[in-house]
Amino acid sequence: MTVCAATNNPGKLRELRRILERLGYRVQSLRELGIALDPEETGATFAENAALKAAAFCAASGLPTVADDSGLCVAALSGAPGVFSARYAGTHGDDDANNQKLLRALRDVPAGARGAKFVSAVCFRLPDGRQLLVEGECPGTVAFDLRGENGFGYDPLFVPDAVGVPGGGTRPNTARRSYAQLADAEKDAISHRGCALARLAEELPGFLGGRQ
Ligand code: IMP
Repeated sequence: MTVCAATNNPGKLRELRRILERLGYRVQSLRELGIALDPEETGATFAENAALKAAAFCAASGLPTVADDSGLCVAALSGAPGVFSARYAGTHGDDDANNQKLLRALRDVPAGARGAKFVSAVCFRLPDGRQLLVEGECPGTVAFDLRGENGFGYDPLFVPDAVGVPGGGTRPNTARRSYAQLADAEKDAISHRGCALARLAEELPGFLGGRQ
């Protein structure tokens, strides 16, 4: 099946493409489809925003569409930045400013109280309007400084509790590496987006077969 990967975020697109292709889908990006659209994310939850983006890009592409809305929820900040993760410091998608603001907000928070989780809501939408929503989470902590060069967004600050093992499975992140220090497969096996898309792959055959 060919799906439209509905994101303008290059980091997210790389992940959506590599995970969906591994799951057997053919992926078309918005650029490949010639779609220039930036729907406003007015939802109060990740799921609402994922559904909103999936609907807009599905209408524009005419293809089955996968949209992700995601973000970092920090316990010591009562769940912030949450759905505002991309625009935490004011400008949408300014990763450096967002990371610096997060470090400042947690300046006085000790190691034992820096718990956080990444959340991804993924909406799969068909041109006839039917949709399937799934979510994935990844628990971890926020580091005291930026570490690693891979990935995007808050990756250099987020230390997941577990990492993927090449060849399958997971293990505790005893070396306390950040998302940005993980190889692609190590992140995808435990990441919020990887978990949401794995769930999508599980549920999709029933959704398509049962209701077509
Ligand atoms: P949105 O889903 O387009 O509203 O943006 C999600 C924002 O959350 C991104 O701009 C990043 O700041 C952050 N984010 C989501 N997923 C990840 C990830 O896997 N690593 C790092 N940051 C992420």
